This record gives sequence, structure tokens and C-alpha cells, in this order.
Amino acid sequence: MMKMKKEDNLTHMAEDYIAIIYRLHEKKNTLVKISDLADYLPNSPSTITEMIQRLAAKKYLDYEPFKGVRLSQKGIQLAEKILRRHRIIERFLTDILDLSPAEAHNEACKLEHTVSPIIEERLYNVLHKPVTCPHGNEINTKMKESHLADMYSLNVSESAVIKKFIDEREEILKSIYSLGLQIGVHFKIIRKDEDRILINMENNKSVLLDRKLAETILVERVT
Ligand SMILES: [Zn+2]
Ligand SMILES: [Zn+2]
Repeated sequence: MMKMKKEDNLTHMAEDYIAIIYRLHEKKNTLVKISDLADYLPNSPSTITEMIQRLAAKKYLDYEPFKGVRLSQKGIQLAEKILRRHRIIERFLTDILDLSPAEAHNEACKLEHTVSPIIEERLYNVLHKPVTCPHGNEINTKMKESHLADMYSLNVSESAVIKKFIDEREEILKSIYSLGLQIGVHFKIIRKDEDRILINMENNKSVLLDRKLAETILVERVT
């Protein structure tokens, strides 16, 4: 039987690293620190550093010791491929298999390494070429200067609409959905301090969010 060839025979774990670095970069737009990665990976900092050095040797990323990592063009291309597949699978899981959006991400993480390009394209077509995943992230993703801002960065009395939940870990998504926040919901900033932000949604419900949570929600200003 013919064995499917991965790029440079990267392991699933290596693919996860590249996708996570891409996501974190999208969130902060700066070098991604090893300590940031440690929040998302089951590995120790020294294991993470080893993997980073291996990926740097294969030219997927640049690593500046004590500062952090940045994906190369090669790394960005691979990340966008992985994330596209991941997001199509999430759509399949929510739209066809009826999983909740909070569950879909973890399940998609397991499937994304094994779904072949043929199945990926069939799914994409069966789903009528969706534009985003259930959490609002683009399927045909391109790293670019975004016109979106994170919710916490808005000023008091600014209005905006929710566009993306960029941190798709189940516990994060569950807290977001349990507050009644959804993609497409309009809101206004009522109050804000160092740690929290109070918003008022279009249905007149007020919601208090921790700063950390608000920073995982990307929004578009409405003027
Ligand atoms: Zn996901
Ligand atoms: Zn998603």
C-alpha cells in the first residue's frame, strides 16, 4: 500500500505546533514566546524548545532564543493548509453531525491529521463551500493585517459586532457561549477597567467579561 507522504514527514505533534504558533501570532501579532506555547501544549518548556529547534532547522520558523518564534513563509503555508482542513471538519461536525460548536474543535483536532485532500474537498463541496468555521474563523485563511480588533481593546461607548472566536479550546468556548455571545451579535462597551469589560448586547442583556476572555474575541467596529 502506498504511504501518504506528509511535508518533510512532519509528525502530528509538529503540525499542531505550527498551527498553534499561527493562531497565537494572529492573536497578538508579535513573536510567540515559548511560555505562550506552553499554555496550549501538553509538553514541558524544554520539550517545546527542542521541537521548535527541529522546526527551525527544517525552515518552518525562525527562533530567537529568549524572544520567541515566528513562522517562515513555508510555515505559514503549511499552517494555512492545516487550518483550512481543521475548519472544514469543524463545519462537518456541527452542520452534519450536530456536535455543539464548543465540542467541535477538539474532535476536529483529532481528525485533521488523517483526512486526505480528496475527502477534504468532498466535504467542502457537500457543505456548500462554507466561508468560516463555526467560530467565525476563515476557511481560506490568509495571514494579513486584520481590520478586526479584540473586544478588550475597544473604548467605552464604542459599538461593534462579534466576528471570531480565535481561541477554540473547549473551556474557553463554553464560557463564551454560556454568556450568550454568538458570532454576529452587536454590542456596546459600557465600562472597562484593568481586568474586566462590561458590554451591553443588542437584546439589552449586559455581560461582564474577564479581560483574558475578551481578548480572544475579535470584533468589527460599527460606526
Ligand atoms: Zn478549531
Ligand atoms: Zn473553529
